[in-house]
Amino acid sequence: MFEPVLTKDIQIPESQEIDYYLSRGGYEAFQKVIKSMTPDEVIEEVKASNLRGRGGAGFPTGMKWNFVPKNTDKPHYMVNNADESEPGTFKDRLLLNGNPHLVLEGTMIGAFAIRANVAYIYIRGEFAREARIMEKAIAQAYEKGFLGKNILGTGYDLDVYVHRGAGAYICGEETGLLESLEGKRGWPRIKPPFPALEGLFRCPTIVNNVETLSCVPLIINRGADWFKSIGPERSPGPKLFCLSGQVKNPGVFELPMGTNLKEIIYEHGGGLLNGKGLKAVIPGGSSVPILRPEEIDVSMDFDSLAQIGSMLGSAGIIVMDEGTCLVDALLNIAHFYRHESCGQCTPCREGTYWAEQVLRKIEHGQASEKDIDMLEEMARHINFRTICPLGDAAAMPIMSFLKKFRDEFVQHVRAGACPLNSQL
Ligand code: SF4
Repeated sequence: MFEPVLTKDIQIPESQEIDYYLSRGGYEAFQKVIKSMTPDEVIEEVKASNLRGRGGAGFPTGMKWNFVPKNTDKPHYMVNNADESEPGTFKDRLLLNGNPHLVLEGTMIGAFAIRANVAYIYIRGEFAREARIMEKAIAQAYEKGFLGKNILGTGYDLDVYVHRGAGAYICGEETGLLESLEGKRGWPRIKPPFPALEGLFRCPTIVNNVETLSCVPLIINRGADWFKSIGPERSPGPKLFCLSGQVKNPGVFELPMGTNLKEIIYEHGGGLLNGKGLKAVIPGGSSVPILRPEEIDVSMDFDSLAQIGSMLGSAGIIVMDEGTCLVDALLNIAHFYRHESCGQCTPCREGTYWAEQVLRKIEHGQASEKDIDMLEEMARHINFRTICPLGDAAAMPIMSFLKKFRDEFVQHVRAGACPLNSQL
């Protein structure tokens, strides 16, 4: 029987307080690493756990930490990416609100592992409340002597700062985030060099997601084998799934990685609203390829979703019932990515603008079937021709909606109107 570990205390009002967190074994993992482990031993333990990044890419966390050079005079930086902005995703916010010391402890252990003496929590501009909660948590950790100089007499120094963004989606991309943290416009950088070698202020830097780092104290306390025993061995651990759209019981569900998507929607989410039938599901935030109803009997993990041509992404599950106009839904998504494009790359800047225009024409019945082909070609040209993954994020939904639901787009064109929205 799986028991939540990341979110088990979030309903308790005192869960933001350090004394409560300490009473539940909080900061024991941090004390263990700084008193009795080397940074390399911490990295090995995290590598052994097979923890993979929860921000979207699913890259192995321990391996990422290992890329940081060991013999360099430059300072190292750890950055906790709390810029959660992917539509359909609201899990990190829950942790920042309800378990801020776990978020902080994971950041501190990560900093120790990569030999950093400074860490940042880069938090989305709109998360003003969460920024205040994290600032309070940091102040409490300083008071208890877990942060600052010569922590608990071990000789290890660490300072942690909260840095608020200005609400740009692109600052969730790690190099856009680093530019923003340096006080510049949040423009993603061309890679390589990767941040592990040249990141913040051109120094070795690791950027990890909130949920990823929150898993680290649990791995240190309970061991890599415990973590690996939850879900599929290649991408194990507890996982937060965000469920939204036309379901009876939307919310964040902590379940084992690899839980069946159908089970999440129909058992945990209570099924669809008003007894309607299912039309489509986006399994991992608005940028990942959409699934048809016959595809949802799938394990929610990185490899299983990749095998069916989609992605786990940020695990933001968006459910759409049979009454949803998918042209309208895609227009909504396209509008978002057009608005959030930073404008550096021509295919992304221009492509997202024109994709939105064409989709608007289709939705309002003013397009021809040639426009549908043109839309598909535009998406192909955006994909893989840009500096950062926002180009792919904008193109992938267009390509997958057209591949799986082309009929609905053609119907709009032939009817000269939206068959669903025009009946409202
Ligand atoms: Fe900016 Fe888009 Fe290029 Fe990313 S892909 S750098 S968001 S223009």
